[in-house]
Amino acid sequence: MTFQFGPDYVRAIAPYQAGKPISEVAREFGLDETKIVKLASNENPLGMPESAKQAMIAALSEIGRYPDANGFELKRAISAKYDVQQDWITLGNGSNDILELAAHAFVQPGHSVVFAQYSFAVYPLATQAVGGRAIEVPARDYGHDLQAMAEAITADTRLVFVANPNNPTGTFVPAAEIEAFLAKVPPQVVVVLDEAYNEYLAPEQQYDSIDWVRRYPNLLVSRTLSKAYGLAGLRVGFGIAQPVVTDLLNRIRQPFNVNSMAQAAAIAALNDSDFLARSAQLNRDGYCQLTAAFDALGLEYVPSSGNFVLVRVGDDDGAGARVNLALLKEGVIVRPVGAYGLPQWLRVSIGLPEENAAFIAALKKVLS
Ligand SMILES: *Cc1c(COP(=O)(O)O)cnc(C)c1O
Repeated sequence: MTFQFGPDYVRAIAPYQAGKPISEVAREFGLDETKIVKLASNENPLGMPESAKQAMIAALSEIGRYPDANGFELKRAISAKYDVQQDWITLGNGSNDILELAAHAFVQPGHSVVFAQYSFAVYPLATQAVGGRAIEVPARDYGHDLQAMAEAITADTRLVFVANPNNPTGTFVPAAEIEAFLAKVPPQVVVVLDEAYNEYLAPEQQYDSIDWVRRYPNLLVSRTLSKAYGLAGLRVGFGIAQPVVTDLLNRIRQPFNVNSMAQAAAIAALNDSDFLARSAQLNRDGYCQLTAAFDALGLEYVPSSGNFVLVRVGDDDGAGARVNLALLKEGVIVRPVGAYGLPQWLRVSIGLPEENAAFIAALKKVLS
């Protein structure tokens, strides 16, 4: 061919690497699917809430019709829960959709986007997809260095991504530091505060980011139903921002980006505080179980505020991939993070007690 399809910046994109599905690992390693433990994608080990399942069954009979393009009932549930007006809410096909909408709405070729080293893989992808230039700011202790990120903003910067807690490291930035950061960011730069793991925060870590949205017209908070709410397969997330930002996101959003089953399930899950409390408690217990094992094995880990832990499984740059492969052969799927620049580490999602135990047993075997 004498030409190439697409712009250079699209051809330069390295595709997102998702966690391996259980069926694929079973096929590849000749294992029994039912014995495989998947701790690779930060899913809720309890699965979906029963309330969401019932809501979906009830919604099934209407599946021949288009969903509500404005998601009125779901926005009403979000509005009540977070005390924001409905015109401050953008619904997304997962919060991944919100992150991409922000890049599409605010960034064009020639603009730059600031995010941290070792932060969520979607930030560089969303930046590149619109021809933006990534400014990756070195991490401090595996987390966001917000002072350095504020200083990295240039005249052409239009967007900053901050994940709190961060994935894949689990690090947390206290509220006071984020507030100080918001006060420093120029008003024409939109800050996306990605709170995918917010529901797992300890009581003393919790803060009111919606109050910041009221004060900062350039702040977009993103939330997801994929993690603590147990609905990863349905793809629902939402953004909260003042109408100046929300209006733009909704102009470029696909009219039916959140399907009707997802809308119904999300409303039920948002109102299911028992399920959320159980999920958070299970996560705290699992965190203790995993980190106690890492301590006993003498393995370094990054203290995590999410539903996963980043653990260092060796000192050489082949360690993560090697231990990951050995774990796969034992029927345990975790996430290698070499693509994040962390080749000595693995990210392990916190599972049910018996899943954590299976992982710990496999890890002991593999490392000995
Ligand atoms: C999982 C995750 C998301 C998005 O998940 P969705 O399923 O698209 O809602 C967003 N940000 C971070 C940091 C995540 O880890």
